[in-house]
Amino acid sequence: MQFLPEDVFDLCLDRAKKLMGPEKYNSWLSNASFRSFENGVFTIGLDSEIRANFVTHNYKDNLETLLRELSGDPAVCVVFTHVPETLSLGKITNSSRHELFSNFLKPGYIFDRFIQGPNNRLAYATAFSVACEMGHSSSNPLFIYGGVGLGKTHLIQAIAHYVKTNQPDKTFCYISSEEFLTMFLKAMIPNKNNFIELEHFKDRFRNSHYLIMDDVQFLSDKETTQDLFFHLFNDLYLRGRQIIVTSDRPPHELEPLAERLISRFQSGMVVDIKPPMLETRLVILNQKLKDENIHLDKDIVFYLAETVKSNVRQLEGAVNLLAANIRIQNLVLTLDNVRSIITEYLGASSRRLNPSIITSSVADFFGINPNALKGKKRNREILVPRQVSMFLLRELTTLSLEQIGSFFGRDHSTVLNAIKRINTLMAEDSFFRRKVLDIQESLQG
Ligand code: ADP
Ligand code: MG
Repeated sequence: MQFLPEDVFDLCLDRAKKLMGPEKYNSWLSNASFRSFENGVFTIGLDSEIRANFVTHNYKDNLETLLRELSGDPAVCVVFTHVPETLSLGKITNSSRHELFSNFLKPGYIFDRFIQGPNNRLAYATAFSVACEMGHSSSNPLFIYGGVGLGKTHLIQAIAHYVKTNQPDKTFCYISSEEFLTMFLKAMIPNKNNFIELEHFKDRFRNSHYLIMDDVQFLSDKETTQDLFFHLFNDLYLRGRQIIVTSDRPPHELEPLAERLISRFQSGMVVDIKPPMLETRLVILNQKLKDENIHLDKDIVFYLAETVKSNVRQLEGAVNLLAANIRIQNLVLTLDNVRSIITEYLGASSRRLNPSIITSSVADFFGINPNALKGKKRNREILVPRQVSMFLLRELTTLSLEQIGSFFGRDHSTVLNAIKRINTLMAEDSFFRRKVLDIQESLQG
């Protein structure tokens, strides 16, 4: 292949979005990420098993056709995986003393490459000071929260990189809460090594000076895991070790996380990151363009910074797409060209969510006909998706209970009951909860 496979894949996604339409694209492919290209096979990551299966069954052939067309190689194929891009328990034994669980630190996620602005300066400053000196009671634990794509992972990985380079006598453990869960579950599988594995697993934590955990919101309602985490956490904390966590929401919204865990989080330093302002977006954009070796006129750069504004990941995605267009199609980037590429790129995420979009996405996820949601049937296969639709309409739109009810031909008390029911189901069944959140995230792009 004469092009970078990443570029081919970016462009393939862009084409797929046009062919599928933004709704379907958003439900299924907006989280797709390039993993590798080896021996003619593109491996593409998706964030859940449901998505990976659905995409394999429904879109694999079309995506392959696109990839073949764009790469000029009629033999390439594609496989999808939902396995996180991380390590397994097996690999841990190989990791060095200083880098527990750190195999997946991204090289570029360092302090020097994190652009500061008014909306992330405090988070940056606190992260940096913690990286220089651990365990100060005023910032232990350090809790960083904010929406997707705003740099939380970048910042906490920067701490890990910094410790690795500048404090060789300190060990750290960097792990996402989902990996924590996976490892914990693996260690619990009954076999003769079970006990040893669990102890081994705990030791990894106990020995670290820095415990850095990404996305703690996923610890959610797994009680046993929370218990274990709380004990490990407390043990480290009492020994003056530094704890750093991130989350997509502030501590008090972390229910159903155990109360004691929440109050521990609140007892240290809590800082948020908000979406970057225009000036910050301009600096980030210029850094990214420089990385990609792309030269654009000032007015185009300004247009991009002004238009792509919800988060930094989206800004990076826009630059990647432009880069792919330049490299593969030799497109000359005029303001008009860029405008049409970006309008298309933002099309899916910036459109307004309305009841039809939400219900058809829910129907898609549950594999049922969207019309059934408005129908009379009350069997469980239809009832649950209908209640999920009501719940999401309430979450994602400004419609009143009455308005939602009338969309389904029902009254407001039915909607209220549906919302309560979904809340209960989500609290009781974490698989179900993940499914609802998956739908919600796909709708929010
Ligand atoms: P989050 O964990 O909050 O969802 P990430 O840390 O994954 O977000 O950031 C998304 C992307 O945006 C990453 O590639 C990251 O390097 C980049 N990024 C975020 N904030 C900044 C910033 N202030 N300066 C430079 N790059 C940033
Ligand atoms: Mg993150």
